[in-house]
Amino acid sequence: MNDHLLRVLDREAGIRGFACVTTALSEEAICRHHAAPMAGAVLSQGLTGAALLGATLKVRQRMAVKVQGSGPSGKLAAESDAYGRVRGYVSAPDFASPQAVTPESMAAAIGHNGLLTVTKDVGLKDLYQGVVSLQSGRLDEELTHYLVRSEQIPSAVEIGVAVDENDWLTHAGGLLLQALPGADEKRLRVLLERLDDLPPLATLLRDGETPYQTLAALFRDGEMSVLEERPLAFSCSCSRERTRKALQMIGAAEIRSLMDEGQAVIECHFCHEEYIYGVEELGEILADETAI
Ligand SMILES: [Zn+2]
Repeated sequence: MNDHLLRVLDREAGIRGFACVTTALSEEAICRHHAAPMAGAVLSQGLTGAALLGATLKVRQRMAVKVQGSGPSGKLAAESDAYGRVRGYVSAPDFASPQAVTPESMAAAIGHNGLLTVTKDVGLKDLYQGVVSLQSGRLDEELTHYLVRSEQIPSAVEIGVAVDENDWLTHAGGLLLQALPGADEKRLRVLLERLDDLPPLATLLRDGETPYQTLAALFRDGEMSVLEERPLAFSCSCSRERTRKALQMIGAAEIRSLMDEGQAVIECHFCHEEYIYGVEELGEILADETAI
């Protein structure tokens, strides 16, 4: 099943639902970051959370989730946009837990002390930022808490990561239910009860259940209209042009010292792409800079 996200709406009740598969983009991120199983599972949770929150954005908007927890996986950062492009990293990708990958051990890897920050670029002059304290380290619970507390939208997030016998990720995906203003609260409670009654998302994903099937099991009886299905992919916005601009900003003395070293290597945090600048190109950047 290709990575994708489905957006549905129960018009009468004013409740929207999102469900996604993020297996391939998680695998690509794990591979790019050479992440150990536990760190990779945590990274996958972050990417899935960002994909879900990104689906609530409008065209040209972008968002970032940052979790700075007390656990050994370190800082988790994930970003997404309204087009299903997702990227992210963990600061300790080589963290190898002695425990098997489970929702509890992933929560311990993140840690239950710390902060979750969501930043949104909605195209205005200032960025929107919301911060909440971590409660349990379970990322889906933390995101639910953020949406309810900071954005004040009744919501429920569930993220599922399934692994094989060696703890390598085999499936990943997520689900988000949200009440729109004036939503039917009774109906929302029914949906949340049904969500509680469903098997864990990791199990559904492992069984090959699609986002459509998962959402249909919640909304039932033709109450939901499918609004959109969009592909999701690991995609980084870094480029040679951008790193060149960054080099132009560091100043002539710094560029000269890089030229003395023989080259400059700029590595992107998010995707590990390396941009290498030789002496000749650094000379051109220096000439451009001194010409300004
Ligand atoms: Zn990159």
